[in-house]
Amino acid sequence: MTSMRFSLRRRNIVILATALLFTSCAALEKKQVAPVQQEPKIRNVIVMIGDGMGFPAVGLLDSYAKYAATSPYKAAGIKTALEELADTGVIGFTSHEAANVLVTDSAASSTQIASGKAAGSEMIGVDEQGNPTETILEKAKKMGKATGLVSDTRLTHATPAGFAAHQTARAKENEIAVDLLNNDVDVMLSGGLRYFIPQEASDEATDIHQSLKQRTSGKIKLKSSRKDSRNLIAEAEQKGYAVAFTKQQLEQAAGKKILGLFSSSMMPDALQQRAELAKPERSTPTLKEMTGKALDTLAKHQNGFFLMVEAGQIDQAEHANDAGRLLHEMLVMDETLQVILNWVKQRNDTLLIVLADHNTGGFGFSYNRRNLPEKKELPGLLFKNEPFEPEFNFVPHDVLDKLYAQKMSYQTILEQFDALPKKKQKPAALAKLINENTAFPVTEKEAARALQEERNAYYIKDHEALGSKSFPKIDDFEEFYVYGAGVRADIIGRIQSKFQSVVWATGTHTNEPVPVLTYGPREITAQFGQMMHTTEVGQKAINVLTGN
Ligand code: MG
Ligand code: ZN
Repeated sequence: MTSMRFSLRRRNIVILATALLFTSCAALEKKQVAPVQQEPKIRNVIVMIGDGMGFPAVGLLDSYAKYAATSPYKAAGIKTALEELADTGVIGFTSHEAANVLVTDSAASSTQIASGKAAGSEMIGVDEQGNPTETILEKAKKMGKATGLVSDTRLTHATPAGFAAHQTARAKENEIAVDLLNNDVDVMLSGGLRYFIPQEASDEATDIHQSLKQRTSGKIKLKSSRKDSRNLIAEAEQKGYAVAFTKQQLEQAAGKKILGLFSSSMMPDALQQRAELAKPERSTPTLKEMTGKALDTLAKHQNGFFLMVEAGQIDQAEHANDAGRLLHEMLVMDETLQVILNWVKQRNDTLLIVLADHNTGGFGFSYNRRNLPEKKELPGLLFKNEPFEPEFNFVPHDVLDKLYAQKMSYQTILEQFDALPKKKQKPAALAKLINENTAFPVTEKEAARALQEERNAYYIKDHEALGSKSFPKIDDFEEFYVYGAGVRADIIGRIQSKFQSVVWATGTHTNEPVPVLTYGPREITAQFGQMMHTTEVGQKAINVLTGN
């Protein structure tokens, strides 16, 4: 009995093994199927999010790189990092709407990318019902990997928060700061110091204020947003973090855990960064520098890592309808992506996913009736007896150089205007600031449009950007310009847009699919060459990381 059972079992095993051999040979011929329960091929996953980096922003960078006289890419005969990635990696599209609506904000989108689960509007790390969801960063942590978050906005802002915090609303930044620390994210580099320092730190007379003033070399405004006395800087140090407030401190930070907070709220925009770049006393690191440090630090970890890098101010430029700044934010994104791509290219164990969380603003160059082209003779056969004379202005390349020439964002221009003594805050002063810092001159009368105070019914409650409840009225699509006093920037953008041959659709987000570019072993990246939703991108990334 026993021997018969044994031989039957043996026979079955032989048949099974033969069958398996044939199946696996057939499978191998079709595609390389990894044997079950093998170690995951991918050790590291890097997600780069261009906030608001839809095709309009991608197109602006591409046009600048290829056609502008001032393009360093053209001068050097090189591609943008984005194009290099597009040419060597796998491209897909992703839609990004939040649960039960058509448009997403950055919180829901980040949550969806991070967790692979649908999220409600403005939710951070929770599913649409309001339950906390485990993020790819948290899964990486559980697997014994190192983790990192880098952003040129602030650490507690929606995009980084969606990867390592769980809150009902993005506005709960004090709570988000605590979550980030509780999650022990190994490398966190961004702005947002005000959510990490105790409320007492706002008072110059306190020891904590004085000690922070010294440690930040007086370079960061010390005003706490906290409603309690928690000192998250001290708590981080107790947990073993090296804390950096300046570029120099970041460079010197050794060890596996670094918390870098380089500004009170948002980090400087691309144009502020550019103005500082050559100064030896510059104390704020660039996105590229923060990313380089994060890669160096995380790569030392024996079990691999998960890193999210956000080029977060593309979206800010688009909200402000600020085309010159948008170009510079895309250049910041691209130099950062180049650092990541150079690192990833040397390896075969890393998956890089670059995507946008949504599109913002609805930017586009558009042909128009202004500055119609001059008649031109062309050498071609069919133009022998007639001039080349298109009917419309199809937008000459030099507009790209003029956009590049912008020295200050609209936001900074308005901050400088607001800092003038009240009686000097006149349209002529605003026109002067605009004309000194952009290549598209406006008249005093046009500048006055941005300053007409009108009460507007459309504003967001409790929004920081609101500023005042009384702000200028935009001529059309006013329901889509929701950010209070920030609308002044959009009006400048609308005034300059006709000289720029630029159109803007809105001051908020739009819902069309955005690009997803991946780089890594082809058998891994092939699955991203599809039309996806951000929840699918997130789930695929999680599956790759966990080897499922
Ligand atoms: Mg963001
Ligand atoms: Zn946005």
